[in-house]
Amino acid sequence: MYRKRRKIKKKVIYLGIGLILFIILLITGILLYKHFTSNEYKLGKIGYSEKEITSILKLDDTYINYALEHKYDDDLIQLTNQKWFIWKNYDKYKDYIKDLEKQPAEVNYEDVITKVNTKTNYKYYTHTEETNMDLGYGILVNKYYSLPNQYAPDDIVDIPTTYSFAGNQIREEVFNAFKEMADAAKEEGITLIVNSGYRTYEYQKNLYDQYARENGEDFADDYAARPDFSEHQSGLALDIVSYGLNMDNFAESDTYKWLTENCTDYGFILRYPEGKEEITGYAFEGWHYRYVGKDLAKKVEKSGLTFDEYYAYYLDKD
Ligand SMILES: [Zn+2]
Repeated sequence: MYRKRRKIKKKVIYLGIGLILFIILLITGILLYKHFTSNEYKLGKIGYSEKEITSILKLDDTYINYALEHKYDDDLIQLTNQKWFIWKNYDKYKDYIKDLEKQPAEVNYEDVITKVNTKTNYKYYTHTEETNMDLGYGILVNKYYSLPNQYAPDDIVDIPTTYSFAGNQIREEVFNAFKEMADAAKEEGITLIVNSGYRTYEYQKNLYDQYARENGEDFADDYAARPDFSEHQSGLALDIVSYGLNMDNFAESDTYKWLTENCTDYGFILRYPEGKEEITGYAFEGWHYRYVGKDLAKKVEKSGLTFDEYYAYYLDKD
């Protein structure tokens, strides 16, 4: 009787030990399985350092999955950390970096992002495409984005000489916005006069062809936009001056100061700012304003971006 009870006790102890061992093994198994299937482990296997893995795992799933599915990519973290990084441009960033790495200088990632986003890593008038006319007043027209062939807006109006030198025209809504702006400026003692508004395809073509004929295409590209690539042909751009001011002293004038402080209230943006020549493809022009509508003008101003960059990041969706 007593011996039998001892035997049972022994059995229970063995069973208990067995169960504990089993549980330990099971937990170890699960932990090992979790470890070897974790993104952390896989990224390590691909070649990322611990520090890089921590950075990658902070990114969105899209980027993590990209890292998991590709070879070690030392640009991934640098690029995705840039404020104006656009995912659909990833392969283009990589291509451009590859080109840059052929030169001794170090790669500046911020610069890579800006150039690729605005296509300015390409030569002017290459990789061109037609601008998305569905964007209305938000279209981009520059040396990479053209208007439709021989485009002419159908709501062009004459600008009366109270507001303009003789012979200028512009799209109706732009004129109304300009009128509102000029009247407000007038109350503060600033006279705004349109120096140039809408220019037709033919006008731009003749101008460009004449430059090209006389001095070659490179010269022409420096001094005139090609037809269909001019913002003036869109009917949304105005060159604004005051009497007695010329292009040389404009940036120091009160007129320029007033315009930079107030133009977005009326839907206009300074299109070719100082210091942004490489991005816009144009020398600083304090007098050239582009109508985009009040809402968009405020957003562009707030972003601190050129319109070319803003378009790439916020408007070019497809
Ligand atoms: Zn202009």
